Amino acid sequence: MRCYILIIFIFFNWIVNSQNSGDYPMEIPIILSGTFGELRPNHFHAGIDIKTKGREGFNVYSIGSGYVTRIQITHGGYGKALYIKHDNGQTSVYAHLKKYSPKIEKIVKEIQYKRESYTFRVYPKENEIRINEKELIGYSGNTGRSYGPHLHYELRDNMDRPINPMKYKNYSVTDTISPVVLGLHYKEIPKNSISGSNSSFKNLELTKISNKLFISDTLNTNGLIGFGVNSYDRMNNTWNKMGLSEIKVNMDGEKVFEMNLNSFSYDEWRHINTFIDYASYKNKKIRIQKLYIEDYNPLDMYNRSLGNGVINIKDQNKVYLYKIRLFDYNKNYTEILVPIRWKEKINYRTKEPKSKNIYSINKDSVYNLSFASSSIKLNKNTFYTDKEIEIIERDNILSIDKDSIPVLKEMTIKFNTKRYNESTVNKTYIAKLEKGNKSSFVSNELKNSELIADIKLLGDYMIKVDSIPPSINLIDVEDNQWISNKDKLQIRINDENSGISSYRGTLNDKWILLEYNPMKGILTYDFDDNINNSESKNILKVSIKDNVGNTSRLEKVFFRITKK
Ligand SMILES: [Zn+2]
Repeated sequence: MRCYILIIFIFFNWIVNSQNSGDYPMEIPIILSGTFGELRPNHFHAGIDIKTKGREGFNVYSIGSGYVTRIQITHGGYGKALYIKHDNGQTSVYAHLKKYSPKIEKIVKEIQYKRESYTFRVYPKENEIRINEKELIGYSGNTGRSYGPHLHYELRDNMDRPINPMKYKNYSVTDTISPVVLGLHYKEIPKNSISGSNSSFKNLELTKISNKLFISDTLNTNGLIGFGVNSYDRMNNTWNKMGLSEIKVNMDGEKVFEMNLNSFSYDEWRHINTFIDYASYKNKKIRIQKLYIEDYNPLDMYNRSLGNGVINIKDQNKVYLYKIRLFDYNKNYTEILVPIRWKEKINYRTKEPKSKNIYSINKDSVYNLSFASSSIKLNKNTFYTDKEIEIIERDNILSIDKDSIPVLKEMTIKFNTKRYNESTVNKTYIAKLEKGNKSSFVSNELKNSELIADIKLLGDYMIKVDSIPPSINLIDVEDNQWISNKDKLQIRINDENSGISSYRGTLNDKWILLEYNPMKGILTYDFDDNINNSESKNILKVSIKDNVGNTSRLEKVFFRITKK
């Protein structure tokens, strides 16, 4: 009997395993710092982040056989990334790599030296670069938009939709900790207008009964209510905050809302700002995950057969029980119980005096608004829904409400540059003003003496002038120094105002590959690239341009023992 069970077990395992693309991409024990579907600024996390003990350089293996469909290096985003299409139709993605395996690195360097560019994107032909199962493909790193060494590993189905890799392989992540609850919020929703609700979320006090159970104060209200929860997941052996996998809600035992974050399409990414309450995120830095669905919300992760999740408190003689269950991927869950009692609402309607700079934007109309030195064009569907937006120009600052409303389509803003003389106008750019007197570069596109930008964030914009060239310093190398024992050159670059736009380096007048890490502001040259190894005297030249064209140049002579 036992033998049969074993055979069935093996057979079952074989079926499960034959459906997925092989194995775990690393050899180190799996501890995650990011889960699939986790909430990130402006997107859902499309893969899992595997911790690498705070270090770089661990072997990364292909999870299955197949061929390389994309090699991509970007300054931000995934940094050095590799995409492999497997024989079962799935694609695996490995990102933030430090370096590729020698086989791929050779191809990468050829492309970089041919194109004279560190960043590039190529799509090799089918089976041009074959990869075996468990073949070494690279080393884990920290390139691109990464806040510490880790491997971003992603799996996509044959339609290129990201799927949770945990679903396809038992990685046996130790996770016995149920999701952590930071806050419970609710909102009164006007009748017939779930989307038009401009009121903000209110907080409801929670009492912690255990790590897995919370009870809220009784909510006394009536009419339509939408809830939102601020929660994240934790796993054993790490303090990283990770995402939830599922949320289920019922009221008096009946299902009212369900969502599941285990697969989504890339088109859905940007709609994350309809899943969370964008205003709370931008104003208070808290991510309230809404437990109801606005009419315009296009996300596919809801069980829409249950309706929109808004509840209606209309029975005066009963206590309702609203129950939220928050699940992590390993099915640990935390419960929140919310008693709700009908209560008459005092209808105090304070009509706030309307500022005359408020525009009622109908989402299906186009608007062209002009001010003293600037203008803005709103296209159809700039916002998810009709909105009242305050737009005003004051002291040459075009103030477009506040960045607390999600924007669906780009708007075009223009600034007149007539007040700048000819020599200055070429140093102007549109900047977005940020908190703490900071600003960020938006555009320097100049057309008919107007600066133009397409923007996707509300907020304050103005023209700034940048006439200061970037700073550039070779680290730890003096003029005419012998540096035979160094295997790398590092150059620190920075531009305070408009920011770095391009860089170029040569060694004895031959282009060299400088790897740029914008998070650190460092350019690195690797002597292994063997540019001019026949003479001991070397002349390094590096030039850096900022976003309005101010240029800095560095020239250094150093000596090295020639290698043969
Ligand atoms: Zn990641």
